[in-house]
Amino acid sequence: MSANNAFHIAVLGGDGIGPEVMAPALEVLRKIEATTDLRFRFTEAPAGAGHYKETGKSMPDSTIRLCEEADAILLGACGLPSVRYPDNTEIAPQIELRMIFDLYAGVRPARLIPGVASSIVGADQKGIDLVVIRESTEGLFASMGKGVATENEARETMVITRRTSERLFEFSFRLAERRKARGRVGGGLTCVDKANVFKAFAFFREIFDETAKRHPDVRADHLYIDATAAMLVKRPWDFDVMVTENMFGDILSDLTAGLIGGMGMAPSADIGDRYAVFQPCHGTAPDIMGQGKANPTAMILSAAMMLNWLADKHDLESAAEAGERIGRAVDKVYAGGIKPFEFGGRNGTADIANAVLAAL
Ligand code: ATP
Repeated sequence: MSANNAFHIAVLGGDGIGPEVMAPALEVLRKIEATTDLRFRFTEAPAGAGHYKETGKSMPDSTIRLCEEADAILLGACGLPSVRYPDNTEIAPQIELRMIFDLYAGVRPARLIPGVASSIVGADQKGIDLVVIRESTEGLFASMGKGVATENEARETMVITRRTSERLFEFSFRLAERRKARGRVGGGLTCVDKANVFKAFAFFREIFDETAKRHPDVRADHLYIDATAAMLVKRPWDFDVMVTENMFGDILSDLTAGLIGGMGMAPSADIGDRYAVFQPCHGTAPDIMGQGKANPTAMILSAAMMLNWLADKHDLESAAEAGERIGRAVDKVYAGGIKPFEFGGRNGTADIANAVLAAL
């Protein structure tokens, strides 16, 4: 769209609870529109297992064209365990979009919202506020669709490139710098790898160290993936920003989502040099679809991340303020005692959505 404050948003609801959590996120954005100078045009488009079942394709070319033209992409969740390609893998347009649009930085913040119980003893006192940055275009996922399996053996190949790693680490250091500038004390950037065993990770670490020299103001360190897993469940408050390979990040970001209450609390963004997709960390949760039980918080917070990204990209203070306003509204709702089904409460999608809209 032409005006600096008007944005065309591609909306891909996807499968399962995807459309159920997308609807409240769009309502929140419409409320933002009604109370700020920001303007949104939403264009919905198909993608996912449902579309594959009907057409044999994970998404039509028109969806890819729309994503190309839009200012940002909102995605619900895609894929269903019951719908599979002939090789038994699931339909995953979300992974294809990362590859098509070169969205190398998967940003997965995990902040424990006051009022939400964490399974980690002491977290209510010490807090959890960390970000996992998952490289999202290569690593082990570079092998997607290219693995070779015979009767007696299967192989998948991990790929780490200098070009992507350099951009990934630059992005990560800049994020750590911004968090420091906003008042984060004692933070820094941790490279999570397995450099003691694999050449690919030694290479990854080498590039991290080179990039660190250009950012002396950020404390930079390394940790092996196995040690990280242990430390995260013991002292998650010690972490600030972490950067890692695609497969490790896939697992770590689910772990960190678990630390802050559950998948329904964890937003995410897949960011490249030009394009970005915003979607919750969770999948399509077929076990609860159609029951009104899905927690829309992660999707709503992903929409807030989209506003922050648009603010940076277009130098638009009102979008940054709107993103923060959504965050404050969500905090207020949880401080007020709302408790999603997801963690044993009685509040479903509509209750949570209405409470956030009221708090805005
Ligand atoms: P994927 O591989 O597509 O990421 P997954 O296997 O990690 O999917 P999810 O769909 O993310 O699985 O969900 C795991 C479980 O967590 C679900 O079965 C559901 O019970 C719960 N869950 C996930 N998202 C939500 C949500 N927004 N609200 C409530 N519960 C959720």
